[in-house]
Amino acid sequence: MSLSGQQFVPGSDRQKILLPLAFCRECGAEYFSVWKVTDTATGQVHFKPRDLQDRVDDPDEGEAGFLYRDPANPWPEDADEVLARLPDEWLEEVKGRLKIRGTLRDEVPRPVCLGPSGAVEAGGLTFWYTRTPFRFCQNCGVSYRVRRGSSDFGNLATLASGGRSTATTILSISSVRFLRDEQSLKDYARKLLSFTDNRQDASLQAGHFNDFVEVSLLRAALYKAAAATGEEGISHDELAIKVFKALELPLELFAREPGVQFAQKADTEKAFRNVLGYRLYRDQKRGWRITSPNLEQCGLLRIEYPSLDELCRAESFWQDCHPALVSATPGSAVVCSASRSVERSMRQPVGTELVEFSSIAGNEAPNRRPEILPAVRDQAGFRLRTAAYGDPRRWASA
Ligand SMILES: [Zn+2]
Repeated sequence: MSLSGQQFVPGSDRQKILLPLAFCRECGAEYFSVWKVTDTATGQVHFKPRDLQDRVDDPDEGEAGFLYRDPANPWPEDADEVLARLPDEWLEEVKGRLKIRGTLRDEVPRPVCLGPSGAVEAGGLTFWYTRTPFRFCQNCGVSYRVRRGSSDFGNLATLASGGRSTATTILSISSVRFLRDEQSLKDYARKLLSFTDNRQDASLQAGHFNDFVEVSLLRAALYKAAAATGEEGISHDELAIKVFKALELPLELFAREPGVQFAQKADTEKAFRNVLGYRLYRDQKRGWRITSPNLEQCGLLRIEYPSLDELCRAESFWQDCHPALVSATPGSAVVCSASRSVERSMRQPVGTELVEFSSIAGNEAPNRRPEILPAVRDQAGFRLRTAAYGDPRRWASA
């Protein structure tokens, strides 16, 4: 393994190749990004390094694809095991038997034996080859609906694939933090000036900067609140209240009228808590920010559902279900993992909107009607400064 971009292992007399790695954004499994080159005269196949961005086949280079190899979780050779490991949407039932869909048959991982030079040779190491685009992870099974030629950036990460805006934001924040502690400078001089010849770039960077600060603040507060609660966790109805407390933001940073008192102050704080609730759940959506995955994706937050374990153990609920569930022991790993998978797949990609609305409705009104969103928007817009939660016009489309 090497961090510097090289084509060959140093000292190997160009006999051992190095291939660039990409990592599954869901589980971190390693994939080699390769060109598959077939010699037209001899039919000999060898593999060579490919930049992840080069995603379509190139007559001068070869076929764009990936190699996978993990001795701890190898891709199976047995046809039935392959069916069990492929994503459900790859399969169809024909005359009572499961088969791989015709359009995807060529996309199933194929074994290749490779020598150190990248050439196919007997006795080499077995790798599993798939063509681009990246359709599913052979390790964790996460799958994507893709078209030929679509980008893999959202599904696979490479080293330092953060992006220019993120890099600029992080460098700027570090500089500002350093300047704040720099006693040799006067207060007004502790600032960072940036020059650009492009107004569009400047506004993009400014937007990225604001967004990054807001998301970091929100996640830090959520983490702080969750860590303080301990094992019992925070329930949905007290989430916004606890995060609001952990955030400890002075009123003047979010209130349009920082001088408000008594009931008006309570109303303003409530409006802010509603906005926080909305933002917190929105941030839990999978794939929403690919270069800064949320706390759950990073393994820093676990979302549990009340009574899910009791439900898994209650035999009567599973009687009319799939045979695999009916025959499974109540409360067993099969039932629990199936329930959690269903819960996750409902919540992460599509189900978040529902939670958002119920969260917006707040603790007092168990109201899930979508109309509540504009109501809270108006209320929050009246009470809060725009800078605290972004442009309210975005709510309408959110
Ligand atoms: Zn994976």
